[in-house]
Amino acid sequence: MLYVFSFIFGSIAGSFLNSVIYRTYTGQSFLIGRSFCPACKKTLKWYELIPVISFLIQRGKCRGCSQKISPIYPLVEIISGLLTVGVVYFSISNCTGMCDKVYFLILRDLFAIYLLVVLFVYDLKWKLVPDKIILPAIGFFLIYNILLYLFNISDISIIDMIVGVLVGGGFFAAQFWISKGRWVGGGDVRMGALMGVILGWSDIVVALVIAYVLGSFISMFLLLWKKIGLQHRIPFVPFLAVSTLITMYWGEFIVQYYFDLVNILVGI
Ligand SMILES: [Zn+2]
Repeated sequence: MLYVFSFIFGSIAGSFLNSVIYRTYTGQSFLIGRSFCPACKKTLKWYELIPVISFLIQRGKCRGCSQKISPIYPLVEIISGLLTVGVVYFSISNCTGMCDKVYFLILRDLFAIYLLVVLFVYDLKWKLVPDKIILPAIGFFLIYNILLYLFNISDISIIDMIVGVLVGGGFFAAQFWISKGRWVGGGDVRMGALMGVILGWSDIVVALVIAYVLGSFISMFLLLWKKIGLQHRIPFVPFLAVSTLITMYWGEFIVQYYFDLVNILVGI
C-alpha cells in the first residue's frame, strides 16, 4: 500500500517536473498558471492532467489540435514514480534504530532525485543546465545537510560538502580552464558542485568514475551504430545525474566490490 501510494505520489511529482522543465525553458512561472498544450495553447482540463493515464487515453495526442505529445512526458512521470518507490524502499530497509527520523532523509533524497530527473531531461533536450534551478538547489542541500548533521540524522558534514564542491566543481573548472571551454561547459562545473553537496567528497570520486565509464560505453555504442559522428558533442550532465543517483545508494557497495576485485587480481 505504501509503495502504491509512493508510485502515485511520484508520478504526480513527475507531472510537476515536466512543467518545471518546460516552463523554466520558456521563462514562465511554474507555480501559477494552468497547464496548456504547447502547440495550440488550449488549457488542459483536470482529466487531461492525470499522469501517464491521460497520455494513454488520448493516445499521445492533444485533444484540441491532435498534435503529438512527446513520450518524454509520460516517461518522466513513470520514472519519477518508480524512483520514488525506490527511495522509500531503500530508506526504510536501510534504516537501523532511529527510524522516526528517516522521513527527513526520504524528503532530501526525493528532492535530489527529482532534481536529477529535471537536469537529465533539460540537458538532453536543450543542452543546457538551468542556473535558476541548480544554484538554489546547491544552497538547499548545503543548508539541509548541515541541519541533518547537527541533529545526527546524516553523516555528511559541512567539510565533506565543501571539499566535495571543490573536488567536483574543481574537476570540471580545471578542464574548462585548460580547454578554454571546449571540453566542458559552465553547466558541468555547476553540476560538479551540486554533486559535491549531495554526495560529499568521498563519494563524488566514485560518481565521476561511473559517469565517465557510462559516458564512454554509450558514446561508443552510438558511434558504432552511426547515430553520431566523432565531432558530435554528447551532453554530459545526464551521465552525471545517473551516476549521482547510483552513487547515492550503491556508492559504498561499488567501492567495496572494486577493492575486493583488485585484491583477488593482485592475489593471482
Ligand atoms: Zn494542442
